Amino acid sequence: PHPPIAFIGLGNMGGPMAANLVAAGYTVHGFDLVPEALEAARAAGVEIAASGADAVRAATSGDRGLVITMLPAGKHVLGAYQGNDSSEGLLAAAAPNTLFMDCSTIAVEDARTLHEIATAAGHRTLDAPVSGGTVGAEAGTLTMMVGGAEVDFEEVRPVLDVVGRNVVHCGQPGNGLAAKVCNNLILGASMIAVSEAFVLGEKLGLSNEALYDVASSATGQCWALTTNCPVPGPVPTSPANRDYQPGFAAALMAKDLGLAKHAIETTGTLSQIGLLAEEIYAAFASGQGGTKDFSGIIEQIRERSGPS
Ligand code: NAD
Repeated sequence: PHPPIAFIGLGNMGGPMAANLVAAGYTVHGFDLVPEALEAARAAGVEIAASGADAVRAATSGDRGLVITMLPAGKHVLGAYQGNDSSEGLLAAAAPNTLFMDCSTIAVEDARTLHEIATAAGHRTLDAPVSGGTVGAEAGTLTMMVGGAEVDFEEVRPVLDVVGRNVVHCGQPGNGLAAKVCNNLILGASMIAVSEAFVLGEKLGLSNEALYDVASSATGQCWALTTNCPVPGPVPTSPANRDYQPGFAAALMAKDLGLAKHAIETTGTLSQIGLLAEEIYAAFASGQGGTKDFSGIIEQIRERSGPS
């Protein structure tokens, strides 16, 4: 039998994830602050609660329910867990020993703080950030990176298999987020490198197709090149072919690299490329690039490189 689920945060990612859980036979009690998100979720079969705390009570009254949060940032998750004057906290509303799984992209240390306060309140937590974007959320093919106790991971494994395809237990609390920031450091840095290489090739008189044919089957091969190729043509499904509509928005890449930067600095890691990638995407996202796919960085590189 499927455990009932409280799903808090029914936005671009949470909405389709909750819909997939309903389609797989789960009873999902959902809540969001935005009426449009609630309406879309209701249409997908989510039972709408009057508050996050009500959703949690509805799902955990039989004391084996699961609470999933998919919120913008760490402050939202901390705020929702703890509550404030105007909204009751999720931790206080849950039946004893409830399992909380946060899928938001937040700082590693915020995930560890959530784990501590939830444990102190008599509950259990997993951090389970995702990769794969809205396309992956809709298709149920997200990569799920999970931090927390093995036994809790096993308990939610069937749920993870509904919303995701590649599910990895990464170790202790916070390690899901650790994997997420490390992966996106690779992704941001590799997209910049691929884009610089295409622009350099153009300057040298090399066609985009020729560089793609070589690098895609040689040692330059990577996801930024072969799936999300920043020039139109070689990979017809990449955002470059539709004027850099996301995809994965540069603003989200800037956010994730900001979390990576924080982790780099707090751990004292030597990560020159990571810090530079953060600087480049922060500037791009705060300018006209924020709503574009992150591969749109090539346009800025080409423009600032002057005519070929
Ligand atoms: P979103 O803004 O579309 O959705 C977040 C939702 O949370 C909103 O609908 C908002 O109203 C709701 N919300 C905020 N505070 C709330 C509260 N206290 N109670 C109830 N609802 C509340 O964002 P998203 O794109 O769905 O992203 C969610 C998380 O997933 C973020 O941390 C993001 O970084 C991460 N993520 C996003 C993508 C992507 O491609 N969109 C990919 C991977 C990871």
